Formats: sequence, C-alpha cells, structure tokens
Amino acid sequence: MSDHYETLGVERDATQDEIKKAYRRLARELHPDVNPSEDAAERFKDVTHAYDVLGDPQSRAEYDRGPSLGGAGGFGFGDIFEQFFGGGRSAGPRSRRQPGQDSLLRVDLDLADVVFGVHRELRVQTAVLCETCDGACTAPGSSLQRCTMCGGSGHVQRQVRSLLGNVVTSQPCAACQGYGSIIPEPCPTCAGHGRVRAERTIPVDIPAGVDTGLRIQLPGQGEVGEAGGPAGTLYLEINVRHHDVFSRDGDDLLGTLEVSFPDAVLGARSTIEGIDGPVEVEVRPGTQSGDVITVGERGVTRLRGAGRGDLRLGVQVVTPQRVDRRTEELLRELRDRTKAPAPQLAHFKQGLFAKMRDRLRL
Ligand SMILES: [Zn+2]
Ligand SMILES: [Zn+2]
Repeated sequence: MSDHYETLGVERDATQDEIKKAYRRLARELHPDVNPSEDAAERFKDVTHAYDVLGDPQSRAEYDRGPSLGGAGGFGFGDIFEQFFGGGRSAGPRSRRQPGQDSLLRVDLDLADVVFGVHRELRVQTAVLCETCDGACTAPGSSLQRCTMCGGSGHVQRQVRSLLGNVVTSQPCAACQGYGSIIPEPCPTCAGHGRVRAERTIPVDIPAGVDTGLRIQLPGQGEVGEAGGPAGTLYLEINVRHHDVFSRDGDDLLGTLEVSFPDAVLGARSTIEGIDGPVEVEVRPGTQSGDVITVGERGVTRLRGAGRGDLRLGVQVVTPQRVDRRTEELLRELRDRTKAPAPQLAHFKQGLFAKMRDRLRL
C-alpha cells in the first residue's frame, strides 16, 4: 500500500486545507456513483482511508510519528491499531453529563373522560436536577479537579510489544473512570450525581379520542441524566376502563337498547342517558331484534379530524317472562288474529347473526 500522502497526491507538508481539497477533487472523480469501474472503487476506498487519517490533525500527527512498517505487508498504523485493539483510538475524556432515560406511566381513564378529553394532574417519580449543585455534582464552594493520573485526558497510554514492534495502546484512566476529572467534594444532596429522585406533579391535557394502548409523548419530562444531563421523554400509556353500558368501536359508541314487545310493534319514543347527557331515541313501528338505531354525533370526539362518532344502539326486544291471566288471554287472541307462524328457521341473510354483523359493522 502506498503512502497516504502519495494516495492523495499532496506533499508531506501540505496544509489541512490542501489535504481537504485534494480529497474532494479525487472523491468527485472516483465516487462509485460517478465512476462505476472496479479500479475506481478500489482507489476511492484508498483515498477515503488516507483522508480519514490525514484529514484529522491528531491522527495525522500519529501517522507522521508512526513506526516504520515498510516490510509489514502494507498495514498503516490505523489498521494495526484497529486489528489489535478493536479500533478504540482515544478521543477526549468522556462526559459526566449523560442524556436521561425515557420513562413510562400508565394512565387509567374512564370512557366518559375520552369523549371530550380530560385534564389530569399526574404524580410522577423521576430523577430531577439537583438544586443544590445544579447538576455540577460538586459541593457548594468546591469544583471539579483535573485528574492527575491522566492529566485530564481520561486515558492512559501503555506500550505493548507486538510482532510489529512497540505499539501504544490507550485505556480509560482508572483513577477518574475516564472523566478526566475527579470530584474532590461530592454534593451532599445528590452524592455527586447531579440529580435526585423526586415526586412531582405534571399537569396534562389528555386529548379527546384517545384509546387503550395509545402513548402520549412528553419530551423533557422523563428522567434527568447523570450530572444534570437533558431529561428523556415521559410516555403516558393510556388505558380506558371498561364501561358498564357502552363499548367502543373506533369513534363510535355501542350500546344495547331493550325494547318491550308492544313498543317494538307499535313504535315508541324514549329519552335515554347517553355518556354525556340525555339522548332522544325513536323506535320505529315494527322494529326487530338486531335492528340498529344510530344517533349521529353522540359518540367519541375524534382524535384526528372534526366532530364526533355516532352512538349505535342494537335493539333487543324483551319478552315478558311472566304475565297475568288477562294478558295471557290477550296474547292468545293476538296469536290467532295475526295467524303468527310456528317457529321456523330464517334465511341466513335475514337472521339475527347476519344483522348484528352487518349493522354493527363488526
Ligand atoms: Zn447535587
Ligand atoms: Zn484520570
């Protein structure tokens, strides 16, 4: 493999700017999108690798210093470093400040809450910023000290003998855990973590139309990170409780309307208690079990889009279980007068099960 400077066609004393320009010119010429030949692809790889090394002043300096590896089968310093030590070229010290984690809170709602939406004051337990040190981790009046073991770099260098000569490896500093600094006097409130656990109240407006399983995201309301790092997201997982009267099909509410036998025959008007107040219902003469009465705009307010779903009431004609002698006489007379047929099988399409499926769209 040729020298990285040769690959990029620049002098050894080229400025960073000249190296960058040379790389850009070659990349434009050799990029696989522009130049599909195999030779170009190979050169593009070499050029990119050369720029990876020379484009960064720190790794360029390392390359310039690098052990002479002329007879070693064409490895660059970076290649060896990566092969032997897993590619961990030392960057700066690691940051104490870490982004916080997300958290999840289950919110139980009644069906009535989701019809128009609801305001809640939620109690949440998360890590919050330590107010004593404001995330600095140090006791008031003290400050972080540069680690003397690693000089603040967070890494210590170690020489390792290998077949190819001495190679320098870099490891996180044990004295400071790689932070490059130590906390001489930890903040007494947070024990040097910059955050504490606390319960707090978050006011939340839960929109209408939410359903079980939906998650509401509250960015920045999750856990505050180590050393006061930015808080994660708080997810509210919605659970809508079972209702005794109504169930839900999308934005529609479903219910069962019990209708007496005479009302089913003669028709009737009634006022029922809907989920949000009285609803006028009209039962038309000749109503059958399984018929559906639809009351528009009395369902759940739509989460997306305008208006509300419908209230759909499946009719169940109620048969009296016990009647007095006079009523029984009247019913016998009625059966004779209407020439009521004996019980018989219905064609499937007129049957109750088909009606339920079609009209309730289940
Ligand atoms: Zn603190
Ligand atoms: Zn250190």
